[in-house]
Amino acid sequence: MSIGIDLGTTNSLCAHLTAEGARLIPNALGDVLTPSVVGIDLDGTVLVGRAAREFQVLHPERCASTFKRQMGSDWKIKLADRELDAVELSSLVLRSLKADAEAHLKDNVLDAVITVPAYFNELQRQATMRAGKLAGLNVKRILNEPTAAAIAYGVHESDEDKVVVIYDLGGGTFDVSVVERFEGTLEIRASAGEIFLGGEDFTSTLAARILESQGMVFEHAELEHPLLVSRLCRECELAKRQLSRGEDAVVRIPALTGDLPDGGPTTTIRREDFEKWTDHILTRTDSPLRRALGDAKLKREDVNEIILVGGATRMRAVRERVARYFGKEPKCTLNPDEVVALGAAIQGGLISDHSSLQDLVITDIAPFTLGVEISHEFGGNCRPGYFLPIINRNTTIPVSRINRVATIYPNQPEMLIKLYQGENRRVEENLYLGEFLVRGIPRGPAGQVVVIRFTYDLNGVLEVEATVVESRLKVRHVVTRYAKSLSEAEIARAVDEMQSLKLHARDETTNRFVLRWAERLYRELPLRERDLLEQLIFLFEEAMELKDVAAIESNRDILHAFLSQYGDGYENRDNQDAADE
Ligand code: ADP
Ligand code: MG
Repeated sequence: MSIGIDLGTTNSLCAHLTAEGARLIPNALGDVLTPSVVGIDLDGTVLVGRAAREFQVLHPERCASTFKRQMGSDWKIKLADRELDAVELSSLVLRSLKADAEAHLKDNVLDAVITVPAYFNELQRQATMRAGKLAGLNVKRILNEPTAAAIAYGVHESDEDKVVVIYDLGGGTFDVSVVERFEGTLEIRASAGEIFLGGEDFTSTLAARILESQGMVFEHAELEHPLLVSRLCRECELAKRQLSRGEDAVVRIPALTGDLPDGGPTTTIRREDFEKWTDHILTRTDSPLRRALGDAKLKREDVNEIILVGGATRMRAVRERVARYFGKEPKCTLNPDEVVALGAAIQGGLISDHSSLQDLVITDIAPFTLGVEISHEFGGNCRPGYFLPIINRNTTIPVSRINRVATIYPNQPEMLIKLYQGENRRVEENLYLGEFLVRGIPRGPAGQVVVIRFTYDLNGVLEVEATVVESRLKVRHVVTRYAKSLSEAEIARAVDEMQSLKLHARDETTNRFVLRWAERLYRELPLRERDLLEQLIFLFEEAMELKDVAAIESNRDILHAFLSQYGDGYENRDNQDAADE
């Protein structure tokens, strides 16, 4: 059984293909969105999703979020006594999604298609692949998120040829892609984006404004009063969502300790002000948009359709800006935070050759320029460090391209081919991918030609072949996503190591979540209600202690009903009807 996974910065989802099309898979709590938050509970088990997010409010030092931004880097975080990197944290999210899928489908799930932003570089893609492996998944393909969104919208099934822009503003990343449906195929013409631009910036800007009005600076407050800031951000998140629907929203201002006392201070935010304060963030989406259109050699009038993806596109200002830019209304008939997972599931079906999808051909693009280092000669002096592009960014893949380089010295016996990815003239500003040595170049004057062929396939595997023209000597080098550190033995060791971290039992998810939710709310409630809540928590804990199944359930239901009176947190359930607008 194969699933499609949207491993998001903020939320992750999984879906599978049924005879009726792609369907989302709910997690143990019945939600389709699982927050990409990981925590290590006080007993050492791993919490993922909403339970971890609730836990994070009171135990930020035991939780990690937005780690997708660190994929492919050396970043590590210490949770409890355990050091974890972004790959390991992501693998825990994937493990939890896999367990949900297996429970839902009543079958083993091994194969998966996992999506990444189109501008993820080689290392980030490799890292995502590794996270899949650590979670026990066989990653069939790393798929670009906008490609997945286009597939979910059935752009390929349309009767006429057209150009579609996918505008994806998620929690932490912005991604814009130009997709062309042409003679029955779906082609990504160009893609651009930013790794530090998303809905969270709107929330933190709002929080910073409010702190400022209280005479505080966000960055300082975050260090000195972390609970205040995390609670305020939560309030701002709610307000932001409220403002996608209405004209104003009330934000409760927590005390320095993070408590939200009864009758404490509040402030009312008007949508107009919120939009004014965050306009500079939205402005930053213009440049990737222009770049993507430019690379695709298109003008905005050439675009037939615009598809909105990512939870942050629910903000009215986003929709209005996009509509103004293109002179037409964007499409948002599917829930913007669900389309990527749906598309990934369809792609998964396509790979395993699902009959209904056989005639769908999808091409993709190389999101970055790939090339080698060369030297330039200035008045007899050789300066290394220059980049010679071989495959330009936004070239449709699979692709194979050649370019020529030459020896610089007479009788030069060998040549070091260094591979880079990026858009800069100087290699040190680009990403180093690897190198290999071409030996045995025949003796002769400088200028012996070596032909370099780059072949880039749909899975992002880059194969480089250097041929010394004179001797027909060929040297081959493959840069794959399974590269480096990933010998089978090392993978096995890493998998073993991760096994020492146990996800808590799936049937316990609801218990843990309700308890964490209750503890978080406990701090926020006025004293009277707090006492009542304390009694309810006590009864629930007691039942759990005694392992009395019937009592656990009834006490949990009572507790859940009590908590629900105070809202569902900023749950995505409040978004369920938004797509129908
Ligand atoms: P990612 O792809 O980064 O995981 P999502 O597509 O799930 O992210 O989008 C998450 C972002 O969407 C968050 O920043 C969240 O605040 C924002 N968001 C979700 N619903 C709304 C809404 N109704 N109004 C405004 N922003 C929203
Ligand atoms: Mg996303």
